[in-house]
Amino acid sequence: MSKIFSGKIIFSKRCLEYQYPFHIESRLRVEKSYEFLRDLGYKFIEPIEANEHWILNAHSKDYIDELKKNEVKDVDTPGHENIYYYASLSAGSAIIAARTLGFSLMRPPGHHVGVKGIALNAPTLGFCYLNNIAIAIRAIDKKTIIIDIDGHHGNGTQEIFFGDENVIFISLHRKGIYPGTGLTSEKNCFNYPLEADCGEKVYLKTLENALNKIEKMARKNNFEIIAVSFGADAFKGDIASLGLNEKTYFEIGRLIAKFNMPVFAVLEGGYTLKLGECIHNFIQGLME
Ligand SMILES: [Zn+2]
Repeated sequence: MSKIFSGKIIFSKRCLEYQYPFHIESRLRVEKSYEFLRDLGYKFIEPIEANEHWILNAHSKDYIDELKKNEVKDVDTPGHENIYYYASLSAGSAIIAARTLGFSLMRPPGHHVGVKGIALNAPTLGFCYLNNIAIAIRAIDKKTIIIDIDGHHGNGTQEIFFGDENVIFISLHRKGIYPGTGLTSEKNCFNYPLEADCGEKVYLKTLENALNKIEKMARKNNFEIIAVSFGADAFKGDIASLGLNEKTYFEIGRLIAKFNMPVFAVLEGGYTLKLGECIHNFIQGLME
């Protein structure tokens, strides 16, 4: 039994209830991953919605009200009469993941949305409504290292925690694509923009260097927990491909486990049919 990660998955079939026509952020990506993990024998915990008190720790009241009234108009992040419910369930799942050291397998994702919606002058909300990982980190109130391995920059998460001395934010992402941010490191935010299809070797070395760079500071300042924004769209051929493969996710888990600090993870993007396998490999690497 791993001390740093429970291996539990937080999931509700309710997150499969909504579907936008022809949208890449589909119910199927999460449904297939759930079935894959269920068949491997994983244990699941049913989430409940995050209440407004928790959500207000990361977002403005005005933005929450817009979302509740389904008034958010965004090119790639469509409205839906129940979107506030689904988003708050996904955020609630992230809180449970943080409390149980588990993996939140829910949609919608969250790392592109900032305090008032669009973050750091990004063009759109990027399929995100509430910043699940940010809400979870504020709810547990622990000094946290965020490792964002989604292939896109976690611009919303950076915006929410910019300059926050209780958070270190690390993001590895592909250069030259949405949201166009995260090209330099500033304050507590360490950004690693990478060339398209840079491959596993470069990727893992970059992650290792990033963790080495912050380790001394994190230990000295008593950081307590690692929060992983888990996206698998850096998988080869996916929309933010960095040329990673199934095995890379095992190695990512193993590198993070070497840091020897409690870990939880929250699903972001990842549109490959291998999403479930990537999650499983990541968990196996963490628990090895
Ligand atoms: Zn992404």
